[in-house]
Amino acid sequence: MKKKVVVFTGAGISAESGLSTFRDSRGLWDMYNIEDVATPNAFSKNPKIVLDFYNIRRRQLLKCKPNIAHYSINKLINKFDLSIITQNIDDLHERSGAIDVLHLHGKLIESKSIIDNKVYQISGEELNLGDCCPKGGQLRPNVVWFGEQVPNMEIAINMVKKAHIFIIIGTSLNVYPAASLVNYAINTKRIILINPNPVTNENDINFELILKKATEGVPELVSELLND
Ligand code: NAD
Repeated sequence: MKKKVVVFTGAGISAESGLSTFRDSRGLWDMYNIEDVATPNAFSKNPKIVLDFYNIRRRQLLKCKPNIAHYSINKLINKFDLSIITQNIDDLHERSGAIDVLHLHGKLIESKSIIDNKVYQISGEELNLGDCCPKGGQLRPNVVWFGEQVPNMEIAINMVKKAHIFIIIGTSLNVYPAASLVNYAINTKRIILINPNPVTNENDINFELILKKATEGVPELVSELLND
Protein backbone atom coordinates (compact mmCIF):
# COMPACT_ATOMS: atom_id res chain seq x y z
CA MET A 1 0.00 0.00 0.00
CA LYS A 2 1.27 3.48 -0.85
CA LYS A 3 2.30 5.67 2.09
CA LYS A 4 0.22 8.79 2.59
CA VAL A 5 1.86 12.16 1.94
CA VAL A 6 -0.10 15.28 2.81
CA VAL A 7 1.16 18.58 1.39
CA PHE A 8 -0.14 21.78 3.00
CA THR A 9 0.61 25.01 1.15
CA GLY A 10 0.31 28.72 1.86
CA ALA A 11 0.85 31.97 0.02
CA GLY A 12 4.65 31.43 -0.11
CA ILE A 13 4.40 28.69 -2.74
CA SER A 14 2.81 31.15 -5.16
CA ALA A 15 5.14 34.05 -4.34
CA GLU A 16 7.60 33.12 -7.08
CA SER A 17 4.70 32.94 -9.55
CA GLY A 18 4.21 36.65 -8.88
CA LEU A 19 1.44 36.67 -6.25
CA SER A 20 2.40 38.64 -3.15
CA THR A 21 2.02 36.91 0.19
CA PHE A 22 0.06 38.37 3.02
CA ARG A 23 2.69 38.57 5.79
CA ASP A 24 5.56 39.73 3.62
CA SER A 25 3.54 42.94 3.17
CA ARG A 26 4.40 44.10 -0.26
CA GLY A 27 2.25 45.36 -3.06
CA LEU A 28 -1.47 44.90 -2.89
CA TRP A 29 -1.82 43.91 0.75
CA ASP A 30 -0.01 47.11 1.84
CA MET A 31 -2.68 49.24 0.23
CA TYR A 32 -5.64 47.85 2.17
CA ASN A 33 -6.75 47.09 5.72
CA ILE A 34 -7.89 43.49 6.06
CA GLU A 35 -10.98 44.74 7.94
CA ASP A 36 -11.97 46.82 4.89
CA VAL A 37 -11.74 44.05 2.29
CA ALA A 38 -11.72 40.57 3.80
CA THR A 39 -14.52 40.41 6.35
CA PRO A 40 -18.30 39.85 6.06
CA ASN A 41 -18.80 43.24 7.72
CA ALA A 42 -16.75 44.96 5.01
CA PHE A 43 -18.93 43.36 2.33
CA SER A 44 -22.15 44.51 4.06
CA LYS A 45 -20.81 48.05 4.51
CA ASN A 46 -19.08 48.59 1.18
CA PRO A 47 -19.47 45.70 -1.26
CA LYS A 48 -17.93 47.65 -4.15
CA ILE A 49 -14.57 48.11 -2.38
CA VAL A 50 -14.51 44.39 -1.53
CA LEU A 51 -15.45 43.27 -5.05
CA ASP A 52 -12.89 45.65 -6.59
CA PHE A 53 -10.16 44.29 -4.29
CA TYR A 54 -10.86 40.72 -5.41
CA ASN A 55 -11.15 41.84 -9.05
CA ILE A 56 -7.60 43.23 -8.84
CA ARG A 57 -6.35 39.98 -7.30
CA ARG A 58 -8.18 37.86 -9.91
CA ARG A 59 -6.68 39.96 -12.72
CA GLN A 60 -3.20 39.39 -11.22
CA LEU A 61 -3.85 35.67 -10.87
CA LEU A 62 -4.92 35.27 -14.48
CA LYS A 63 -1.53 36.67 -15.55
CA CYS A 64 0.40 34.20 -13.34
CA LYS A 65 1.53 30.67 -14.01
CA PRO A 66 2.29 27.77 -11.69
CA ASN A 67 5.98 27.43 -10.79
CA ILE A 68 8.26 24.43 -10.45
CA ALA A 69 7.23 23.92 -6.82
CA HIS A 70 3.57 23.37 -7.84
CA TYR A 71 4.64 20.98 -10.63
CA SER A 72 7.10 19.04 -8.45
CA ILE A 73 4.52 18.21 -5.79
CA ASN A 74 2.40 16.40 -8.40
CA LYS A 75 5.24 13.94 -9.10
CA LEU A 76 4.76 12.47 -5.62
CA ILE A 77 1.64 10.71 -6.90
CA ASN A 78 3.94 8.21 -8.67
CA LYS A 79 5.02 6.75 -5.33
CA PHE A 80 2.67 8.00 -2.64
CA ASP A 81 -1.01 8.40 -1.83
CA LEU A 82 -0.91 12.20 -2.24
CA SER A 83 -3.30 14.79 -0.81
CA ILE A 84 -2.87 18.52 -1.29
CA ILE A 85 -4.44 21.00 1.12
CA THR A 86 -4.00 24.70 0.41
CA GLN A 87 -4.80 27.92 2.19
CA ASN A 88 -4.40 29.70 -1.12
CA ILE A 89 -7.32 31.07 -3.06
CA ASP A 90 -5.36 30.92 -6.31
CA ASP A 91 -5.77 27.95 -8.65
CA LEU A 92 -2.08 27.40 -9.43
CA HIS A 93 -2.07 23.84 -8.04
CA GLU A 94 -4.95 22.91 -10.36
CA ARG A 95 -3.31 24.64 -13.33
CA SER A 96 -0.13 22.63 -12.67
CA GLY A 97 -2.20 19.47 -13.14
CA ALA A 98 -2.95 18.60 -9.51
CA ILE A 99 -6.19 16.75 -8.93
CA ASP A 100 -8.42 16.93 -5.83
CA VAL A 101 -6.90 19.99 -4.21
CA LEU A 102 -8.66 20.82 -0.96
CA HIS A 103 -9.03 24.60 -0.60
CA LEU A 104 -9.47 25.75 2.98
CA HIS A 105 -10.13 29.39 2.10
CA GLY A 106 -12.06 29.08 -1.15
CA LYS A 107 -11.19 30.06 -4.70
CA LEU A 108 -10.73 33.43 -6.37
CA ILE A 109 -12.21 32.14 -9.64
CA GLU A 110 -15.50 31.19 -7.99
CA SER A 111 -18.44 33.21 -6.69
CA LYS A 112 -21.26 32.27 -4.38
CA SER A 113 -24.76 33.57 -3.95
CA ILE A 114 -25.58 35.50 -0.78
CA ILE A 115 -29.05 33.86 -0.89
CA ASP A 116 -28.17 30.16 -0.78
CA ASN A 117 -24.36 29.90 -0.88
CA LYS A 118 -24.55 28.10 -4.22
CA VAL A 119 -21.17 28.26 -5.97
CA TYR A 120 -20.61 29.47 -9.56
CA GLN A 121 -17.55 29.74 -11.78
CA ILE A 122 -16.64 33.38 -12.57
CA SER A 123 -16.26 33.84 -16.30
CA GLY A 124 -13.67 36.52 -16.99
CA GLU A 125 -11.84 38.77 -14.58
CA GLU A 126 -14.56 40.61 -12.74
CA LEU A 127 -17.40 40.15 -10.30
CA ASN A 128 -19.41 43.34 -9.85
CA LEU A 129 -22.41 44.76 -8.02
CA GLY A 130 -25.49 43.57 -9.91
CA ASP A 131 -23.94 40.22 -10.88
CA CYS A 132 -26.58 37.89 -9.50
CA CYS A 133 -27.40 34.18 -9.28
CA PRO A 134 -30.47 32.87 -11.18
CA LYS A 135 -32.57 33.49 -8.03
CA GLY A 136 -31.52 37.15 -7.99
CA GLY A 137 -29.04 37.04 -5.13
CA GLN A 138 -25.88 39.17 -5.36
CA LEU A 139 -22.79 37.07 -5.98
CA ARG A 140 -19.75 37.45 -3.69
CA PRO A 141 -16.28 35.92 -4.03
CA ASN A 142 -16.25 32.30 -2.87
CA VAL A 143 -13.50 32.96 -0.35
CA VAL A 144 -13.48 32.47 3.40
CA TRP A 145 -13.22 35.86 5.07
CA PHE A 146 -11.76 36.55 8.50
CA GLY A 147 -14.40 35.66 11.07
CA GLU A 148 -16.08 33.04 8.86
CA GLN A 149 -16.15 29.26 9.35
CA VAL A 150 -13.68 27.12 7.38
CA PRO A 151 -16.02 24.47 5.96
CA ASN A 152 -13.29 22.08 4.74
CA MET A 153 -11.42 22.00 8.05
CA GLU A 154 -12.81 18.61 9.20
CA ILE A 155 -11.87 16.94 5.91
CA ALA A 156 -8.38 18.44 6.15
CA ILE A 157 -7.95 17.25 9.75
CA ASN A 158 -8.84 13.68 8.72
CA MET A 159 -6.30 13.78 5.89
CA VAL A 160 -3.53 15.05 8.17
CA LYS A 161 -4.30 12.38 10.80
CA LYS A 162 -3.56 9.71 8.20
CA ALA A 163 -0.31 11.25 6.92
CA HIS A 164 2.97 9.32 7.09
CA ILE A 165 4.78 12.39 5.81
CA PHE A 166 3.43 15.92 6.26
CA ILE A 167 5.00 18.63 4.11
CA ILE A 168 4.23 22.28 4.87
CA ILE A 169 5.25 24.85 2.25
CA GLY A 170 5.23 28.66 2.31
CA THR A 171 2.98 29.43 5.23
CA SER A 172 3.62 31.59 8.28
CA LEU A 173 1.39 29.24 10.32
CA ASN A 174 -0.28 32.34 11.71
CA VAL A 175 -3.78 32.14 10.23
CA TYR A 176 -6.12 29.98 12.32
CA PRO A 177 -7.78 27.52 12.28
CA ALA A 178 -5.68 26.42 9.25
CA ALA A 179 -2.42 26.65 11.21
CA SER A 180 -3.75 24.23 13.83
CA LEU A 181 -3.61 21.39 11.25
CA VAL A 182 -0.06 20.62 12.45
CA ASN A 183 -1.53 19.41 15.73
CA TYR A 184 -3.31 16.55 13.96
CA ALA A 185 -0.18 15.01 12.45
CA ILE A 186 -0.35 12.25 15.05
CA ASN A 187 0.71 9.31 12.84
CA THR A 188 3.38 11.24 11.01
CA LYS A 189 6.98 10.06 10.82
CA ARG A 190 8.25 13.32 9.33
CA ILE A 191 6.92 16.88 9.43
CA ILE A 192 8.89 18.92 6.92
CA LEU A 193 8.57 22.67 6.62
CA ILE A 194 9.87 24.58 3.60
CA ASN A 195 10.15 28.33 4.07
CA PRO A 196 13.07 30.72 3.39
CA ASN A 197 12.31 32.40 6.73
CA PRO A 198 12.11 30.86 10.20
CA VAL A 199 8.52 30.11 11.26
CA THR A 200 7.35 30.50 14.83
CA ASN A 201 4.32 28.44 15.67
CA GLU A 202 2.85 28.48 19.13
CA ASN A 203 2.68 24.68 19.09
CA ASP A 204 5.81 22.86 20.14
CA ILE A 205 6.21 20.78 16.96
CA ASN A 206 9.43 19.13 15.92
CA PHE A 207 9.75 20.27 12.30
CA GLU A 208 12.47 19.36 9.85
CA LEU A 209 13.08 22.86 8.57
CA ILE A 210 14.26 23.47 5.01
CA LEU A 211 15.19 27.14 4.92
CA LYS A 212 14.79 27.59 1.17
CA LYS A 213 12.41 29.17 -1.29
CA ALA A 214 9.73 26.82 -2.59
CA THR A 215 11.14 26.65 -6.13
CA GLU A 216 14.41 25.35 -4.72
CA GLY A 217 13.37 23.39 -1.63
CA VAL A 218 10.35 21.56 -3.07
CA PRO A 219 12.01 19.95 -6.15
CA GLU A 220 14.95 18.88 -3.95
CA LEU A 221 12.68 17.30 -1.34
CA VAL A 222 10.49 15.60 -3.95
CA SER A 223 13.49 14.04 -5.63
CA GLU A 224 14.79 12.85 -2.22
CA LEU A 225 11.43 11.25 -1.39
CA LEU A 226 11.06 9.61 -4.81
CA ASN A 227 14.57 8.15 -4.68
CA ASP A 228 14.44 7.09 -1.04
P1 NAD B 1 1.48 34.35 4.90
O1 NAD B 1 1.54 35.52 3.97
O2 NAD B 1 1.04 34.57 6.29
O3 NAD B 1 2.94 33.71 4.98
C1 NAD B 1 3.65 33.48 3.81
C2 NAD B 1 4.87 32.68 4.18
O4 NAD B 1 5.51 32.33 2.96
C3 NAD B 1 5.88 33.43 5.04
O5 NAD B 1 6.20 32.64 6.17
C4 NAD B 1 7.09 33.59 4.12
O6 NAD B 1 8.32 33.48 4.83
C5 NAD B 1 6.91 32.44 3.17
N1 NAD B 1 7.50 32.66 1.85
C6 NAD B 1 7.73 33.82 1.20
N2 NAD B 1 8.30 33.59 0.00
C7 NAD B 1 8.41 32.24 -0.10
C8 NAD B 1 8.92 31.38 -1.12
N3 NAD B 1 9.42 31.87 -2.26
N4 NAD B 1 8.89 30.05 -0.90
C9 NAD B 1 8.38 29.54 0.26
N5 NAD B 1 7.89 30.30 1.25
C10 NAD B 1 7.91 31.64 1.06
O7 NAD B 1 0.64 33.25 4.17
P2 NAD B 1 -0.28 32.13 4.74
O8 NAD B 1 0.35 31.49 5.91
O9 NAD B 1 -0.67 31.33 3.56
O10 NAD B 1 -1.58 32.88 5.30
C11 NAD B 1 -2.10 34.02 4.65
C12 NAD B 1 -3.56 33.97 4.26
O11 NAD B 1 -3.71 34.89 3.16
C13 NAD B 1 -4.03 32.62 3.77
O12 NAD B 1 -5.22 32.40 4.41
C14 NAD B 1 -4.28 32.78 2.27
O13 NAD B 1 -5.58 32.34 1.93
C15 NAD B 1 -4.26 34.27 2.01
N6 NAD B 1 -3.42 34.59 0.81
C16 NAD B 1 -3.48 33.79 -0.30
C17 NAD B 1 -2.69 34.09 -1.41
C18 NAD B 1 -2.79 33.20 -2.62
O14 NAD B 1 -3.85 32.57 -2.83
N7 NAD B 1 -1.74 33.07 -3.45
C19 NAD B 1 -1.83 35.19 -1.39
C20 NAD B 1 -1.80 35.99 -0.23
C21 NAD B 1 -2.61 35.68 0.86
